Amino acid sequence: MDANKTDDHKKLGKELDLFTFSDLVGSGLPLWTPKGTILRNLLDEFVWELRRKNGYEKVEIPHITKRELYEKSGHWEKFKDDLFRITTREGDEFALKPMNCPHHTQIYARKPWSYRELPQRYANTTMCYRDEQSGELNGLSRVRAFTQDDAHCFCRESQVKEEFLKIWDIIEEFYSTLGFKPKKIRLSFHDQNHPEKYLGDKKHWKTAEDILSDIAKEKGAETIDGVGEAAFYGPKLDFMAEDAHGRLWQVATIQLDMNMPERFDLTCTNEQGQRERIVMIHAAVMGSIERFLSVLIEHVGGAFPFWLSPVQAKVLGVSEKHAGYVREVVAALKTAHIRAEMDDANESLGKKIRNAKSEKIPYLLVVGDKEVEARTVSVESRNDGKQDAMPLADFIARANAEIAQRK
Ligand SMILES: [Zn+2]
Repeated sequence: MDANKTDDHKKLGKELDLFTFSDLVGSGLPLWTPKGTILRNLLDEFVWELRRKNGYEKVEIPHITKRELYEKSGHWEKFKDDLFRITTREGDEFALKPMNCPHHTQIYARKPWSYRELPQRYANTTMCYRDEQSGELNGLSRVRAFTQDDAHCFCRESQVKEEFLKIWDIIEEFYSTLGFKPKKIRLSFHDQNHPEKYLGDKKHWKTAEDILSDIAKEKGAETIDGVGEAAFYGPKLDFMAEDAHGRLWQVATIQLDMNMPERFDLTCTNEQGQRERIVMIHAAVMGSIERFLSVLIEHVGGAFPFWLSPVQAKVLGVSEKHAGYVREVVAALKTAHIRAEMDDANESLGKKIRNAKSEKIPYLLVVGDKEVEARTVSVESRNDGKQDAMPLADFIARANAEIAQRK
């Protein structure tokens, strides 16, 4: 089922002032407004909070690299049509990164590791660039610059299952909090009839795919076969979820990679003092934040949950003489870390309420003579027309409780 036209993320993004495009910057290169940036950051902080509990650490990398890194990783060959290339004035070839894995291998490779120090879990929200054909660009769904909430876990083969299950929990908590219904897991495996599409030997693929099948079975997940859907370096578990319109999306992915560690000779020293080959898990939760937001904006029809709304409360004075108290209320809300705005336009209260509702702001706080005198606010939620008078402190307490629960 399609979302109806009013739920189109391009239209809503413009109406709600979340992102824009500029002919001067170029197509497929979204620019994020202050409101859109709030959304991106809050979502990313949520993912980070879940990751941090599971032992991830943040890393950071440059957005370009020498050609040699991608020759070694295999990306130069496999991604050659999608790479943005740069030639320096000294004639060296560089590329803008289409993904982060090869850079992250070099952080792991900076020193020798004992098995006791593994897993090493690196998280990095960062932009990637792919030279998509202009005819295929579409709003935020298909762009040339996108932000991955990326993570790589470097661990022993014996640790893969535990690490996968941790990421699985993170994905489940993230998507259920946002009201997506988890549906199926796609086992995205390689196509044995086309070995030329993939790196590495049969043995690695078989081992990796067996591990993924076991994990899905242990979780009791409903699986679908995705032969030929693997990444070129390893098989994936793709998480499918249903949105509010009954549409099924691939929302997150966990990949098991035994090839990249081989290519970059990544090891640890094991209990016997020998060098042991490690494996690498690729784990994006939102995947591309741009694409994820295109799905989320349509899923909620632009009415973001309270904790995520760029503007959480709008304070409206019944008339101009209440402007002083309006400003006082806004200042108190901001001090309490609630994103509040005021509408001091010289318009009727009815018009102001209609405007705030079309901006899908979760709470409207109306103040008139009664409220000024009693130091209260009349709270109206975007969902109903009821006004509830309460002391400002009570509203702040209620709002902060909702934010803490990500409601
Ligand atoms: Zn990766």
